[in-house]
Amino acid sequence: MMVFPGDFLGYAEEYIAGYGIYEEDGKLFAATAGRAVVEEKVIRILPVKSIPEIRKNDVVIGRVVDTRNSFAMVEIARKEGDDRALRHYDRAFLHISNMSDGYMKNVEDGVRYLDIIRARVIDSNLRLSIKERDMGVIKAICERCSSPLMRVKDKLKCPECGNVEKRKVSEYYGRGEW
Ligand SMILES: [Zn+2]
Repeated sequence: MMVFPGDFLGYAEEYIAGYGIYEEDGKLFAATAGRAVVEEKVIRILPVKSIPEIRKNDVVIGRVVDTRNSFAMVEIARKEGDDRALRHYDRAFLHISNMSDGYMKNVEDGVRYLDIIRARVIDSNLRLSIKERDMGVIKAICERCSSPLMRVKDKLKCPECGNVEKRKVSEYYGRGEW
């Protein structure tokens, strides 16, 4: 049961007050927002973790969920440096003009479906840029055989089938777990 501060939860003779509960005149109230749980007559609150808000200049990790002629849609998985999961997967917008400092002809030369990217948020409407050297694709799979691609200079190569694919590759490609 979700509760908010001040919500009446029961009587002191029914329950033992645990974390996040205060008692007044024999009544128990929530002192914090969260989920009320009862175990062996102890009632307590599991606090709601706050959801990180995404702001301009934040660095985010996300997955490309769609590509069109001039842009890609990216599902933001998390904000870098913040382990809290996002409650809703926010959709962000990556335009082809924000994929590279130079001219890029095709969106797919920058990112492709299901790539994991590291990107900077450039405005409050969740527009992204991967122009910086350490931004761009950090994990990708082979379009032919779905094996994880390896970075070879500024391209990606499949160690299984030898397929070479173009991307806007981040300097962080292949580092760590995403
Ligand atoms: Zn392959």
